[in-house]
Amino acid sequence: MRKYFVGGNWKSNNTMADTHTLIGKTINALNFGPEKTEVAIFPSTIQLTEVQKQLTNKNVYVGCQNISKYGFGAYTGETSVLHLKDLGINWTLVGHSERRSLFAENNAIVAEKTKFALDNKVNVVLCIGETLQERESDQTLNVIQQQLGHVKDVLAAKDSWSNIVIAYEPVWAIGTGKVATPQQAQDVHAFIRKWMAEHVAKEVAEAVRIIYGGSVTEKNCQELITQTDIDGFLVGGASLKPGFTDIVNAVNQAQ
Ligand code: PEP
Repeated sequence: MRKYFVGGNWKSNNTMADTHTLIGKTINALNFGPEKTEVAIFPSTIQLTEVQKQLTNKNVYVGCQNISKYGFGAYTGETSVLHLKDLGINWTLVGHSERRSLFAENNAIVAEKTKFALDNKVNVVLCIGETLQERESDQTLNVIQQQLGHVKDVLAAKDSWSNIVIAYEPVWAIGTGKVATPQQAQDVHAFIRKWMAEHVAKEVAEAVRIIYGGSVTEKNCQELITQTDIDGFLVGGASLKPGFTDIVNAVNQAQ
């Protein structure tokens, strides 16, 4: 049985006061079975230590939205995975589509960052997904294979994948209110699992969590989570609102 995973990507939002309210009213009150579901929140980097202080719900992990591909050193403006380790933070997103499109992170950089995080015992939510243009030109599966292939090529051991959650996030669904249908999402998740079985190992494919992201809300999550290969969600906009509780509850109650 794979544990469900729900991530809340707060992106570059929230004053400190907003964050205090969100943690105090929603995140600290989340009530789920940690043996069945993992929950992680990804605040902006500058608020990480304050979030750690405010968080009394010990079942919720705190993660970073991005890391540099370097360690400590002369890399002005960057946050190293070594900074995360120092704070006791053991999750990070890597390869979010906004990083790829707005900050020119290509597959090679995403793979390097993933490896560097894993080498330093920080778990990775690896974000992949196609643009609308790629979907419309029937390139979805090619894009997914390339994104996964770069990561696979830099990881030495198949065991590394136990510290990766794959987030399938079609770019056209992120922040648009245009969610993938359960069938569209299931089709790509099933493809990812098959690809993992063929290119990494069957047992890795069965164990790896594949979560869906893209306009998930408390209204559409119930149906999505019934899909065989959907193991949870990466939630953007809706993770800033009280409805995040309903998403966590829906996942935690799924069979
Ligand atoms: C995301 O930021 O990963 C995301 C899926 O955003 P949203 O839920 O707002 O579409």
